Amino acid sequence: MRVFICADMEGITGVVHREQLMPEGKQYAEARRWMTADINAAIEGVLAEAPDATFLVNDGHAVMRNVLLDDLHDRAELIVGPATWENKPLCQTTGVDDSFDLMLCVGHHTRSGTPGGLLAHTWSGAVVQNFWINGELVGEIAINSATAGAFGVPIGLVTGTDRLMEEMAATLPPNVVGVAVKKTLGTTAAICKTPRVTRGLIADGAAEAVRRLRAGELSALVPSSPVTMEIETYRREMAHQALRAPHVEACGEARFRTTAPDAAIAAERMWRAVVRAHDQAAGFLQ
Ligand SMILES: [Zn+2]
Repeated sequence: MRVFICADMEGITGVVHREQLMPEGKQYAEARRWMTADINAAIEGVLAEAPDATFLVNDGHAVMRNVLLDDLHDRAELIVGPATWENKPLCQTTGVDDSFDLMLCVGHHTRSGTPGGLLAHTWSGAVVQNFWINGELVGEIAINSATAGAFGVPIGLVTGTDRLMEEMAATLPPNVVGVAVKKTLGTTAAICKTPRVTRGLIADGAAEAVRRLRAGELSALVPSSPVTMEIETYRREMAHQALRAPHVEACGEARFRTTAPDAAIAAERMWRAVVRAHDQAAGFLQ
């Protein structure tokens, strides 16, 4: 079995604040450790059910150099480096293809606009106000699942906040296993379980995802084709800049969209446009 792990940081055990999310932050070192531990817990859970499984982990947060390679499970390989369009055209799902049997989303967060959502945003907190797939308002768990779905890869596990479990139920296929590692209090506070506890919950969740996969209970997220992705930016200048990217068109004051045969092609175009929408390369792309 081959498993793709799409990893972010805002939904990792214990993470609630920007100080934990960026390399210059005072609590970044411990957050990196927790991120690596949450990923390892998912790997161990899969291995309990599928001892021969191998893993590709995409470090999908900000500078994308967060996971501690020394501490990562040896059964995994790690995609390291920022998501410039040339580097990682599919952003957090770069590396996924039809050789994978299952995708797990570890450490994810709620979509931009989630009221009171812990560290909520979509792709780029500075640029993206709303993101729709075929008219449905979605966040990164659905964007990433649809991208993997274009390669036939089903989504099996989502870890993050209690509120992310609601977004999962609303926007992902049925039977995805959800593991809440913390309970949202507000945009920068949560009630957190300890790493020792969440490690067990995540491992159990990943093992359950493998059992559901084998029972035929999981499915890939495949939006009906052609797939239209649309973004509303915070300022209309951002949408204008985004239009410098190919294959996107304006569809309102601060909006642009693309229509493509599948979600992976659409997501690639939209990510390229969002990178162009920044006035200058954002810090996390440097
Ligand atoms: Zn992130």
